Amino acid sequence: MREDVKSLTLEELGQRLKALGEPGFRAKQIFKWLHGGAERFDEMTNLPAALRERLDGCFTITVPKIARKQVSKLDGTVKYLWQLSDGNCVESVLMQYHHGCSICLSSEVGCAMGCKFCASTIGGLVRRLAPSEMLDQILFAEKDSGMTVSNVVLMGIGEPLDNFDNVLKFLEILNHPEGRNIGMRHVSLSTCGLVPKILELAKRKLQLTLSVSLHSPDDESRSAIMPVNKIYPVDVLLDACRKYFAMTGRRVSFEYTMIDGVSDHEAQARLLAEKLGGMAAHVNLIPLNAVSETGLRASSREAVRRFQTILEEHGVTATVRRTLGSDIDASCGQLRRAYEGIKEEGKCERGA
Ligand code: SAH
Repeated sequence: MREDVKSLTLEELGQRLKALGEPGFRAKQIFKWLHGGAERFDEMTNLPAALRERLDGCFTITVPKIARKQVSKLDGTVKYLWQLSDGNCVESVLMQYHHGCSICLSSEVGCAMGCKFCASTIGGLVRRLAPSEMLDQILFAEKDSGMTVSNVVLMGIGEPLDNFDNVLKFLEILNHPEGRNIGMRHVSLSTCGLVPKILELAKRKLQLTLSVSLHSPDDESRSAIMPVNKIYPVDVLLDACRKYFAMTGRRVSFEYTMIDGVSDHEAQARLLAEKLGGMAAHVNLIPLNAVSETGLRASSREAVRRFQTILEEHGVTATVRRTLGSDIDASCGQLRRAYEGIKEEGKCERGA
């Protein structure tokens, strides 16, 4: 079977070429082409034709198809639905800020975590993405839009720490100076709270920003909306976050979705401040984005403001996240692996 060449690090590619009897510098040439968005070995004009043919026999180059592209009329945010080589689909969102371009990537097709407010988990987990399929979301969004991505957030479909090895390999390749060369300080990774994996990540001492989806400071209400809390309860999770900070020196950021009557009580703000007390933390308040299947509603503006004030009065810094791309369902928790109309062509299923 042909190997997925874009999932290889430069070092691994070097080993493969050595085994083929090729000189070392070829690996670097091929790596550069791949991370510049080449779709075929044919395009690699500084390689001898015979080598290009040989490479074609040994490797595949993944090329996702744009199954749908939507551009927000409000803020220019672009949402892509990619069709992968096996017909499955994932979404990514390209956002423009004054300091550059950020992309929100998916790490899995679907998600096994079952959070009650999130569209990405409807239908469960189908499969995990290969490193190449995460990279492709950047390479092909850049190719299509003509923009250059400077920040990467792993906050799309899937639980990145549930696809640990592939995500770390993706980050290593992304970070490589001969490849896309995006530094770890420009990467954020979001998790619903898989404690053993948070501790494993801490050991790697990467300079990325870890975001933890907390959404509630008490076990009763957190377990009601996030099944993962039954395995790793709030205090165990926060303890792992403290260890993460101690081991990496990187401040953990917390995402807190404001859900009417579920997570926005004033007592919860006080408990959250108490639990985060003394911790180098930042809280991002996210008013719930609409997902029609969930039956949950966003908190009122007043409730969000009150919650933020209580946190700040207790010395916890909190910001309210600006919503981008709301007219195209491109906000947190609204990404899906499917949409209406694609079904006939491949495996993509109907969304709501
Ligand atoms: N599985 C990871 C990565 C997904 S990131 C994680 O849970 O962190 C997506 C972020 O959006 C998470 O913080 C998630 O909890 C949040 N989210 C999900 N559904 C949402 C919704 N309907 N409104 C606002 N935020 C939502």
